[in-house]
Amino acid sequence: MDEPLKGDAMPGRLTAHEAASRVEALRREIEHNTYLYYALDAPEISDAAYDSLMRELRELEEAFPELASSDSPTKRVGGYVEKQFSAVRHDRRMYSLDNAMDEAELEAWMDGIQKLYGSLPALCCELKIDGSSIALTYRDGLLVQAATRGDGTTGEDVTANVMEVADIPRALRREALEEVANPDVPLEVRGEIYMPKASFDALNLEAQAEGKKQFANPRNAAAGSLRQKDPKVTASRDLATFLYAISRNDAIRVKGQWELLAWLKRAGFHVNPDVALCQTREEVLAFCAASLEKRGSLPYEIDGVVVKVNDFALQDAAGFTSRAPKWAIAFKFPPEEKTTLLRDITVQVGRTGALTPVAELDPVLVAGSVVARATLHNEDEVHRKDVRVGDTVIVRKAGDVIPEVLGPVISLRPADALVWEAPKTCPSCGSPVIREEGEAQLRCVSIDCPAQALERLLHWVSRDAMDIDGMGEEIIGRLVEIGRMNDVADFYSLTVEELEQLHMGRTNKDGNAISLGRTTAAKLIDAIQASKDRDLARVICGLGIRHIGKNTAAELVETYPSMEALKDASEEALQAVHGIGQRAAASIWTFLRTPDNIDVIERLQDAGVTMVAAQRSGQDKPQTLSGLTFVLTGTLTNLRLSREEAADALKAYGAKVSSSVSKSTSFVAVGDNPGSKYDKAVKLGIPVLDEAQLKTIIDTGKPPVL
Ligand code: AMP
Repeated sequence: MDEPLKGDAMPGRLTAHEAASRVEALRREIEHNTYLYYALDAPEISDAAYDSLMRELRELEEAFPELASSDSPTKRVGGYVEKQFSAVRHDRRMYSLDNAMDEAELEAWMDGIQKLYGSLPALCCELKIDGSSIALTYRDGLLVQAATRGDGTTGEDVTANVMEVADIPRALRREALEEVANPDVPLEVRGEIYMPKASFDALNLEAQAEGKKQFANPRNAAAGSLRQKDPKVTASRDLATFLYAISRNDAIRVKGQWELLAWLKRAGFHVNPDVALCQTREEVLAFCAASLEKRGSLPYEIDGVVVKVNDFALQDAAGFTSRAPKWAIAFKFPPEEKTTLLRDITVQVGRTGALTPVAELDPVLVAGSVVARATLHNEDEVHRKDVRVGDTVIVRKAGDVIPEVLGPVISLRPADALVWEAPKTCPSCGSPVIREEGEAQLRCVSIDCPAQALERLLHWVSRDAMDIDGMGEEIIGRLVEIGRMNDVADFYSLTVEELEQLHMGRTNKDGNAISLGRTTAAKLIDAIQASKDRDLARVICGLGIRHIGKNTAAELVETYPSMEALKDASEEALQAVHGIGQRAAASIWTFLRTPDNIDVIERLQDAGVTMVAAQRSGQDKPQTLSGLTFVLTGTLTNLRLSREEAADALKAYGAKVSSSVSKSTSFVAVGDNPGSKYDKAVKLGIPVLDEAQLKTIIDTGKPPVL
């Protein structure tokens, strides 16, 4: 360790060069003391001395702005405990992995590898742990920083929380340190932080008992527990880790992945024991098959096998694509199937009156997420599958795909299993239901159906439509129940006073009815008022006209930028609009000629809801991306934008954003867990952008230079 720093030096007297080395020394010293203080509860210097070092660092960073850094200790508000997550630049980029969706794709990848090197090199096979990536930095053998993967280049600083994870060594074992190539360079160790299945179940049970939101799967639970503002919450969660990589292969004196895993074990990390160093394709395929077999009995979730070229020199020769190493592949497991009890078949009434049978299941964990309900689509489907209430059924789910009931296990059918009968009347309003010629769906056609009203109202407030924050199912449901709301125009006559006193149908511990309260009521009314200025496209989408979704609504207002113009358009003219088919044209034309609907639109108009297309937000931006077509896939975790928002930002510069990849696609931007669009882009040779590149484009409007 350097000479202890005295602090409170005079920034003005230093040259830029001296300042840089002083800043670095200060940061090191502060990090070290922060660690001693927070992690070991064993400070070596007084609080005042610590504060003084911090003050000096802050002053230097102000005097020499070029030395400022987002991961400086000065950027952490109030030390570890209260800090929000600051950005951490990874030592080297954290890549994603390319996927092989089946054995044929895995074989094809091995063909490519064999061709690249002349013969098949040794391949290290590991389980693909379904958790959250983590990068741990050790300086002088001590854990000083932990970060999430983020966009690969920059992650979030989760040091304070990781310090609470008992599983992670605070200090590397001495004997392992001897194999570190350069002890002066910090070492970034990478792996996966996960939540064991049993802990996930227990956490969700607890959340359920307390009426809190449950996590959808162990992966989200791990990531959520890691990104807590209060490290005590992280400490209360059972998180575990498997480490499998370092940021620079030459940081440790080992020659390949297999030896690295052994070193990580020696250094004190948890390393997954299910690994194999394979010399042949057959061995790789056998490892994948055996892992798949084992999947259900492991205490943690895995979603595949990662196959890596073992030798580091060979890895370096292969290099990376913009997203993933060429020397590794993730073999993804096929969809998972589970059996569970079909407790009931309920009927859901949609906003257009469609009746959908829904399987109510004993909750099961399938392909990483809990499934408790699954649509059975329609009456014919229930009978075709011959699922009966009381049956044990097979539920299937592939990754992010919607769960599906495949069918019953007939041999387990109890004698009293009930054949489901489609309702003759609407379960919500009691009106008779009809089934139109050529339609599979039963439909309630009553205009007064409260279930439809609720769904319609919820659709109006949804993000794609008027985006009214805070107006959820509970409040709207209550307003429908008491007869205060029936259609979307009713939102605009609500008052703060009336919402304030709205009883939520629950009582507090003293037996008094719980009402919304002034603050919430005022916020809701503000949100409703703000929705009046949305674009016409959102209004049209929000009206919930059959066959008219967000995109068709946008296409419509391109040609008809006001409600008046739209009302005047003939059915033929509507059909001529790009993206509007015969059914959609007929649907909107009829909608705008139905007296009840005209009445709602007029009341909206009277309330001041915009009925004209907004100036397109892009018109004041230079159209630098015109002529380019983008496709977005995966979750844009780091950009913190929904795909729609990112698409809007690109469109503002004149770009087109399409939902499918074709030869005319210019770029495919890829977030976390990308779908098949990514694979298609690779197949067609379309340039792929990561989140960081997408962010640059959105920030600058400049087309990417590849
Ligand atoms: P993806 O989630 O599709 O981007 O897959 C890549 C991720 O798999 C990496 O970022 C890691 O977090 C994760 N992963 C889990 N287990 C392993 C492993 N054994 N080797 C490499 N990556 C792994």
